[in-house]
Amino acid sequence: MSPRKRSSVASRRRPSVPKAQRPKPPVPDPPEYLRRLGVQPRKALGQHFLIDEFILGDIARACCPQGGETVLEIGAGPGALTEELARLAGRVVAVELDEELAAFTRERLRQFDQLEIIAADVMDFEPGELLAEGGGAPPYTACGNLPYYITQPIVRRLLEAQPGPQRIVVLVQREVAQRIAGGPGRESLLSISVKVYGAPRILFEAPHTAFWPPPKVQSAVVAIEKFAGPALDLPAGEIEAFFHLVRTGFAQPRKQLHNVLTDEFTLERAPVLAILAEAGIEATARAQHLQVADWERLYGVMRRRHPGLLEARDVDGDDADGDESDPDLAADEPDND
Ligand code: SAM
Repeated sequence: MSPRKRSSVASRRRPSVPKAQRPKPPVPDPPEYLRRLGVQPRKALGQHFLIDEFILGDIARACCPQGGETVLEIGAGPGALTEELARLAGRVVAVELDEELAAFTRERLRQFDQLEIIAADVMDFEPGELLAEGGGAPPYTACGNLPYYITQPIVRRLLEAQPGPQRIVVLVQREVAQRIAGGPGRESLLSISVKVYGAPRILFEAPHTAFWPPPKVQSAVVAIEKFAGPALDLPAGEIEAFFHLVRTGFAQPRKQLHNVLTDEFTLERAPVLAILAEAGIEATARAQHLQVADWERLYGVMRRRHPGLLEARDVDGDDADGDESDPDLAADEPDND
């Protein structure tokens, strides 16, 4: 490298500063009611409270477009979103794991008769049970500024719930929102899992300055309009086997699907290519290119040509419910230090 080139590269390179010594951006002052609360937010519970009133209003209106709806809120925290919802909804049932916060918010918002705050772990109960406990009944919308550490298990629970919400409106990490929404050529195991149950769309983004304390990551609000039932023409008992195929297809997302199926099901390449052709899927396709209907056709052909393959896994029950060890359905826990 010539000296001139070397100096131009050097001038662009900043001296590296060890992470711990980097100045942290100033943390904004919390709003008055949070100062009154007087507790340190618990990072382990994903406590980044929404303080931007425009975003709070927009989320509440996305949950209650008509006014008078029934809403199940997950993770009420100090109740900024809860309060907006209580102004618009006919009934709000808000669930909060942190008992101290639940008691604070119950007291702070005691003027709203249509609001019930339940101190509970949302993962310990069915959404319908929580709704009924709080005096609500279907139809309902589920919403929340979800704690990062448990976003995807909560979304999955809401999608599979009986009785389920008609609409889900959640504020999540932006990358998770993008994976939920998917799109042509950008589908993920998560987007397909969601699109079996409903139609997702990203409503808007929320910068980290909309929260106190601000997280390192950007966030986005996603709405999922639930279908009346799963968008699969399969007997209920086969849905788990279907998801097994989808999970298998995404096991090596960078590879073309024929290579993945050949590897994962230990099949010869020629029959795999024939299966894809019969299902109307391009030989060069990757899992990210397939829509729910493509997976359904692929499932149908595989089930007919190789009934034992999916059957065996179905019986085995191996992570068929998408447990948290599943790389795509596992919670994304950003480093918010
Ligand atoms: N809704 C508030 C807001 O927007 O400011 C708080 C949102 S904060 C990101 C997430 C909230 O979920 C926290 O208050 C946290 O304590 C609560 N939480 C965490 N895990 C929970 C669980 N398993 N069940 C119910 N609430 C939970």
